[in-house]
Amino acid sequence: LTDEERDVLERIDREGIDFLRLQFTDILGTVKNVAVPADQAEKAFTEGIYFDGSSIEGFVRIQESDMRLKPDASTFAVLPWRGTSARLICDVIDTSTGEPFQGDPRAVLKGALERAEELGYEVNAAPEPEFFLFEEDEEGKATTDTNDAGGYFDVAPKDLASDVRRDIIYGLEEMGFDIEASHHEVAEGQHEINFEYDDALSTADNVATFRTVVRAIAAQHDLHATFMPKPIAKVNGSGMHTHISLFTEDGENAFHDADDEFDLSETAKQFTAGILEHAPALAAVTNPTVNSYKRLVPGYEAPVYVAWSDRNRSALIRKPAARVPAASRIEARFPDPSCNPYLAFAVLIHAGLEGIENDMECEDPIRENIYEFDEEKREEYGIDTLPSNLGEAVDALENDETVYEALGPHVGPKFVEAKRAEFADYLVDVSDWELDRYLEKF
Ligand code: GLN
Ligand code: MG
Ligand code: MG
Ligand code: MG
Repeated sequence: LTDEERDVLERIDREGIDFLRLQFTDILGTVKNVAVPADQAEKAFTEGIYFDGSSIEGFVRIQESDMRLKPDASTFAVLPWRGTSARLICDVIDTSTGEPFQGDPRAVLKGALERAEELGYEVNAAPEPEFFLFEEDEEGKATTDTNDAGGYFDVAPKDLASDVRRDIIYGLEEMGFDIEASHHEVAEGQHEINFEYDDALSTADNVATFRTVVRAIAAQHDLHATFMPKPIAKVNGSGMHTHISLFTEDGENAFHDADDEFDLSETAKQFTAGILEHAPALAAVTNPTVNSYKRLVPGYEAPVYVAWSDRNRSALIRKPAARVPAASRIEARFPDPSCNPYLAFAVLIHAGLEGIENDMECEDPIRENIYEFDEEKREEYGIDTLPSNLGEAVDALENDETVYEALGPHVGPKFVEAKRAEFADYLVDVSDWELDRYLEKF
């Protein structure tokens, strides 16, 4: 056992933990867990816990279904809404080889971080997940009725959810989160909670945990929290802006350059160029649902056009103002909180690193509101658009070697297959919009 693992065993004892939830995520980003009695902890660390991977979305074929969970001791946290249970995030090991299972999204992200490390970088990331709180009906089912009529940065009593948000924040803090800020978002019933940046792996773990905690605590208030990107038409959707910077081994921010007009180093600009270059394919992973593309439309503070800006929020990537050199970073504004955070960060990092490796050139930032450009002006500026639906995004992914390979040989094909099926299912559906529009007209 390592020191960290021994510490966990001690805490289990001292804090009277009786159950451990061993957590991992499937390819679609759904958090899965296996609960074991706490007296299994030592065995979980030394031998791992075996499970049947064939029943997990996209994991394995039936004939090769034995997987082993290897808990990461640094992720131990007591679940605040169940004081005697704790969770540990796990790596998934392929029992036939004893190696990390390539279908484990956490392993895919670790691959991206290794590539960064080979270039001498550590990747930091911080997300801004947005979500809606909706009322439940008498049967406890989620509705799309918001529980308040507040708006951007409103305070109570209009912002009725501030009690819920406070409880969510207490819960997250108990689990070790450093909360930076929380506020009511633009739409009624919409909220945002920001947490402190960390290395990209810890941040991806945090996003997975965050979604679970927010839902569990909202449910205690008889509310349904949703990370669906666009639950209500024609109002702002929910994004998950992702801030990224690279640090060198001696702790310098490789994205900072005090002499640059935008405080951004050449490295930061090349990284940005890499993301812009691969944006259509990246979208399949960072915006992976049919509904994601209902958010990526002009007029709701979500990006549509492939460009970067040092001030304008209609661009795909923004350079936020930084108070200190360590805070120089880029903000990718297109990801949404329905993504698998491990895979989303992995593809963003690979695309950015490719920009660095190939000395990619970054165009000047666009300072005007691109929503207001017409097609001619966009052409003049050479601005592409994001895919307009999931089908186009998956096509772009399949045609983009860099992004497809970033997912690895297992996840790439499984992801494409799952998303093609999702889109095909959507295409044959007859929606309320169609009935409203045509039923009585024809
Ligand atoms: N909700 C917006 C989006 O979809 C972002 C709004 C904001 O944070 N300013 O990305
Ligand atoms: Mg914000
Ligand atoms: Mg926001
Ligand atoms: Mg933001």
